[in-house]
Amino acid sequence: MQKICVASHHPSLEALLTDSEFKELAKDPRMLVELRLDQYKDLSTAALRTTLRALGPERLVVTFRCHEEGGGHPEADDTLRLKYLLLAVEAGAAYIDFEWRTLERCVEFSSRLMEKRSGQAVPKFIVSFHDFEGVPSLETLRDLRQKMEASCADVVKVAVRPSRLLDALPLLKLMRETDSQFKKPFLALAMGEAGFWSRVLGPLFPNPAPFTFARGEGAPGTAPGQPTWRELAEMYRFGELQADWPVFGVVGNPIAHSRSPLMHNAALANTHTAGVYLPFKLDGDPVAFVRDFAPLIHLQGISVTIPHKEAILPACDEVSAVARRIGAVNTLVKRRDSDQWFATNTDAEAAAGSLEEALGGKGRLTGKVVLILGAGGAARALAFGVKDKGAEVWIHNRTRERAEKLAQEVAARCVDKEAIVSQAAQITAVVNTTPLGMHPNVEASPLEEKEIPKGSVVFDTVYNPLRTKLLQLASQRGCSTLPGLQMFVGQGAEQFRLFTGKDAPLVVMKVAMEAAAAPGE
Ligand code: NAP
Repeated sequence: MQKICVASHHPSLEALLTDSEFKELAKDPRMLVELRLDQYKDLSTAALRTTLRALGPERLVVTFRCHEEGGGHPEADDTLRLKYLLLAVEAGAAYIDFEWRTLERCVEFSSRLMEKRSGQAVPKFIVSFHDFEGVPSLETLRDLRQKMEASCADVVKVAVRPSRLLDALPLLKLMRETDSQFKKPFLALAMGEAGFWSRVLGPLFPNPAPFTFARGEGAPGTAPGQPTWRELAEMYRFGELQADWPVFGVVGNPIAHSRSPLMHNAALANTHTAGVYLPFKLDGDPVAFVRDFAPLIHLQGISVTIPHKEAILPACDEVSAVARRIGAVNTLVKRRDSDQWFATNTDAEAAAGSLEEALGGKGRLTGKVVLILGAGGAARALAFGVKDKGAEVWIHNRTRERAEKLAQEVAARCVDKEAIVSQAAQITAVVNTTPLGMHPNVEASPLEEKEIPKGSVVFDTVYNPLRTKLLQLASQRGCSTLPGLQMFVGQGAEQFRLFTGKDAPLVVMKVAMEAAAAPGE
């Protein structure tokens, strides 16, 4: 089983030793703790010996990063670093991590460490390479990996910094290579949000590394993009991941706020389904993501969000009738045993179905006026969804031409604010599909209280926060309200069914979403 190595972020060894979270982590057989000797201001041989004893050397990964590779101790030369690492070898630490660059310039470094280790099974040597500026070419990385394999390394580590998701392709291709010359465990990391996938999916590649890095809860992390150990262990089921598990994920930009990973991973775990669901921050071409990136991580199902719902269409081999009418997809599913992608839109049925249910059940939308605020992707899904259930659609949008275009396609009526107020009695339901009121602009609302039609059902597709300003105003006005959560769970549940062939555990998904809501939402 692969472990999770939690990086100590503490300014001193004393602070580490008094941190109850790390004391508990050091006792957990699923975990390792990384000591970053270059960052402790109270580092001394005595303090290090005490720390190794207190936490247990068999649980520790010891690093004294050189300054050129991000080390926090500008005066530490190789002699000083070697002194401390030799001490860790002597104490029987699980792993010692030192740089490929140090090895290249200082042969003594590795020979002294090996000499000290002689006859012992531990520590294992991690030889690491970091590029904080970008991602070298595949040829450069392959050459580097070959040289590192030929060194004293027990584990080869390469960490690069893609600024965008697709920049990491050379590293990803190298991770997939099954060349017989690559025999040693390979710890490949893409730093930053664009490389989040690399921190979770290690076990799915050939020559998997013995662990991945994580940060403590509430800690900043020693490298950008590090998840917390609890996220890895509980949400992503890191310890259970198997090489043949399918990968699912949501692709969008921004993506950090997305609650889809939480909801889908809860559903996968609850139904004992093999698979893991990740966020992919894609600042780039979604078609290239589907064609070049997805096969390398064995992606089987994709949720699509802003701004890729339309631009991803050329990557789809078959598009459902509903998605074609809406002109946007939110779900891609890989056809079994083929490279073909089927795409659909689960927003329309989830949105219209939630509204119908709020009005009392099937058939309740027939002949009713539904006012849609907004004319973007969600508005299109809603307009077609409620129209199919017999509703009369009115559309109000900031940009009138866009509202007119949608109104024409769906045989709806375009209305301004005056008409909303003067003809309020005709309106049965109001649906907000603009981002107004969404975190962090929680005080915004697409309608003022006096503009909300009395007696209507007010549905806000925004689900973060759960109780938006519009819904608060609607309640004050005496209207019944419908938060976006139900639609979100509904569209996710249908995706889950398409991804796994199983019925979605609706209650589990809803509870996961509610638990993630900030207090007061
Ligand atoms: P979109 O295609 O970008 O459309 C956004 C719409 O909102 C456009 O009509 C835009 O008007 C309008 N808008 C944006 N900012 C505005 C402002 N400051 N004032 C007034 N109108 C403004 O986005 P989308 O895909 O439709 O998503 C919109 C929202 O729907 C999301 O933020 C999300 O909260 C929600 N949503 C929820 C679910 C769910 O499952 N609950 C699913 C999908 C979406 P212009 O035409 O004038 O630009």
